[in-house]
Amino acid sequence: MGLSNGIPFLDLVSPHVELEAEFTAVFHKVLRSAMFIGGPTVENFEREFASFCDARFAVGVSSGTDALRFALLAAGIRKGDSVLTVPNTFIATTEAISQADALPEFVDIDEGTYNMNPACLRQYLETQCDPDRRTGLRISRRTGRPVSAVVPVHLYGQMCDMDAILDIAEEYNLIVVEDACQAHGAKYFSAKDKTWKKAGSVGVAAAFSFYPGKNLGACGEAGAVTTNSEQIARHIKMIRDHGQAKKYYHDVEGYNGRLDALQAGLLQVKLKHLAQWNEQRRARAAFYGQLLAPLSESVILPVEPSWSHGVYHLYVIRTSDREELQAHLSSRSIGTAIHYPIPLHLQKAYRGLGYRAGDFPVAESVAPQILSVPMYAQLQLEQQESVAKAIGDFVASRHSAFVMSAGI
Ligand SMILES: *Cc1c(COP(=O)(O)O)cnc(C)c1O
Repeated sequence: MGLSNGIPFLDLVSPHVELEAEFTAVFHKVLRSAMFIGGPTVENFEREFASFCDARFAVGVSSGTDALRFALLAAGIRKGDSVLTVPNTFIATTEAISQADALPEFVDIDEGTYNMNPACLRQYLETQCDPDRRTGLRISRRTGRPVSAVVPVHLYGQMCDMDAILDIAEEYNLIVVEDACQAHGAKYFSAKDKTWKKAGSVGVAAAFSFYPGKNLGACGEAGAVTTNSEQIARHIKMIRDHGQAKKYYHDVEGYNGRLDALQAGLLQVKLKHLAQWNEQRRARAAFYGQLLAPLSESVILPVEPSWSHGVYHLYVIRTSDREELQAHLSSRSIGTAIHYPIPLHLQKAYRGLGYRAGDFPVAESVAPQILSVPMYAQLQLEQQESVAKAIGDFVASRHSAFVMSAGI
């Protein structure tokens, strides 16, 4: 792509241009079969995606948000339950919890990985909840509701510390639904089972988004739930399609939440390249790490624990001068974004939950500092050098400004 006009935050054109002939063939096939919803294309994609995730089943749905909502419903979250997640995530995580008639509650994140801190999860269950002998669940003191599930979010393409989270979940009878919407292909080394596990294969169910900008993106809206439970897979197939197992015979009320055949066919084409694209993202992350290492006093780089094999959906750096750095990069035509500027517990939409500033100190302290810089498989090494040079120049100018103002 002609990138002479700077470095975009995301390039959704190049990967699609390369595959245009295959995409066009998919469109012709779908057009001529008129199988627009469901059918063999959807089923084939589901099989291939399940296999990619090392899960027994994948069920295609209309978005990542629907995937999360359906996963929670099918996994057995009941009306009035409390579901624990983190404040540093996209609002879809908590929207899905609310739409499953449950209430989101938060625990803080780890400062290194920005993912759920298992110690905070344990502490919440131990010190802020009371045991309910009748159900074996914990009752949240804040809300008086039973805590029935936890949604670890594998943010930025890196999995949460799942051994620890699964242990806690087992101890407190929590259903684990992974939000894997940013983590297609990410892996976690389970020291307990002595094996690498893929995102989407460790919880009772997991939600994936195929929003165009995700590591595997559709040319429109799409999502999927993965699970090893045949019962959950069957339940989701029913609720994504108006609660019917057979046409016009409705066992329950469901939703219009299906994956269409055109998106499934396009996703099949892209899925073949996903492993390689993920490796390219990892290589680019390693190169950024090399280029930015000399700036480590001013810029905090992503942390990848030895048990993690991240797929760098985003490359997120941290600095105390975030707004200025973002403006400086923008002046050099380098695109950036912030994921996410306001932790969910402080969003206007969640005023009703009754949280206050100070409730989640780690999430609150990183939110004003994080900055996502360009990261995609097609990113060129010279482009990365330009990004690193721009960041380096910024750090140098801030440093000399500081030296001058301090009168040194
Ligand atoms: C993208 C995303 C979602 C929602 O996916 P949609 O397909 O946009 O509905 C949910 N959770 C996280 C963490 C995401 O990044």
